[in-house]
Amino acid sequence: MKTPPYFNMEYDMAEAFDYVIVGNSAAGLQALKTLRKHAIDASVAIIDREDLPAYSRVITPYFVGGKTERDNLFLVDRDYYNQTGVTTLFGRNVVALDAEGRQLELDDGSSVAFGKLLLATGAEARQLTITSDRSSVLRHMADAEKLVELMQGAKSITAIGAGLVSLPLLSHAPEFVEKHLVVGSNRILSRMVDAETSAILEKRFTEKGLQLHKQNDSVAIEEGDRLQLQLASGDCLTSDMLIVGKGVQPNCELASAARLQVDYGILIDDYCCTSHADIYAAGDAAEGKDFVTGEPTIQGNWMTAVEQGENAALNMMGKTCAYDGSLKNNITEVLGVDVAAIGECMDDTTQSISVHDQSTGRFRKVFLNDQQQVIGANLIGETNDAGLYYHWIRTRSKFPGKQVLSGTNSYAKFQLRMA
Ligand SMILES: Cc1cc2nc3c(=O)[nH]c(=O)nc-3n(C[C@H](O)[C@H](O)[C@H](O)COP(=O)(O)OP(=O)(O)OC[C@H]3O[C@@H](n4cnc5c(N)ncnc54)[C@H](O)[C@@H]3O)c2cc1C
Repeated sequence: MKTPPYFNMEYDMAEAFDYVIVGNSAAGLQALKTLRKHAIDASVAIIDREDLPAYSRVITPYFVGGKTERDNLFLVDRDYYNQTGVTTLFGRNVVALDAEGRQLELDDGSSVAFGKLLLATGAEARQLTITSDRSSVLRHMADAEKLVELMQGAKSITAIGAGLVSLPLLSHAPEFVEKHLVVGSNRILSRMVDAETSAILEKRFTEKGLQLHKQNDSVAIEEGDRLQLQLASGDCLTSDMLIVGKGVQPNCELASAARLQVDYGILIDDYCCTSHADIYAAGDAAEGKDFVTGEPTIQGNWMTAVEQGENAALNMMGKTCAYDGSLKNNITEVLGVDVAAIGECMDDTTQSISVHDQSTGRFRKVFLNDQQQVIGANLIGETNDAGLYYHWIRTRSKFPGKQVLSGTNSYAKFQLRMA
């Protein structure tokens, strides 16, 4: 095995790195930090087809909307990798994995051998079958840069798909811009919140000028001075650009071709290990246990990717530790409305309790299981108490009673009792 330091792009193909990470984002970066914390002398390589230091995809809608600078997206700078003695192979695509030979093949024909491997390959945005030069998904920096260009001077924007890409992007577009949202289902944020929460949000967003086209889809685009988007309903929307937010597809091709177990994502056990003992997976590409249901799932959130990246790295080093399972955990602001969804908060949950203060718009809803334990929460209005709900879910706490949901005063008193 190699001995450090190994600086950018200098590596000997004949020797195996102790650890190789594919994917330099939430999961990969956290794994790298964890490896460096505990295995200072190990040789580590990180590979990514984007030639950039790790950045936050979560903040890219703010960048597109001109609310933050591109530089503020980066989580580390290029020097970070050199300083930590990690070999970076950025701008390089891994095209094949030989699991038994413990080797990766890169797009330039070179190969990289590993002792242990982490697949932190994330996901790609689903594209539409109909496309235009004035349409884009948002997953990578290049997409964000294209959207910045498209948004210049746009008077009307249409987004397709009502999730956490379309809504924040519309939200951060200038206020005067006409905003259309085309949704396949009969409600917005259907994968994030329950129907009651969704209905409240729809009302708030439409009051703020969002034009909703539900149970609809785009069927054709006519190019011209402006885009003419034909909808399945027969309506036609005139827009200057199109945002495509139709969900994501996990990057599992390497794992599938190497005959690792793959369902929707790369299947991992409680130690973030795949069906191959020396290959781990984490983040949006990995399908692991949900904390509440115990079912294999892909949460598709930043926190899960970080937690799994850390857990995978610890187990790769032989520090055996089980991961409790992932939790839905989305906290965002759309069109000036704070929204949070934590844990299991779907329509079929056994029991739910909600409080809605019409005068302030503050809404709290908790979801309980048969044992009265809190398993999920939807919050509208201030979301600075989201951590409390997260804590209840993670500690499988019994719900303390409806009084803690109503009003910030009761909440503050409750916190004092907890302290
Ligand atoms: C616009 C947007 C808004 C979001 N908002 C939120 C939010 O508010 N809250 C939240 O929790 N989450 C949010 N997310 C989701 C969050 O960003 C993801 O859950 C997180 O990025 C997953 O991290 P990851 O490391 O698993 O994968 P990714 O971030 O997808 O990174 C995977 C990396 O692997 C690289 N890669 C893949 N295959 C290969 C290969 N074969 N060779 C080389 N490199 C490869 C890719 O280039 C990529 O850099 C948002 C995502 C987007 C796009």
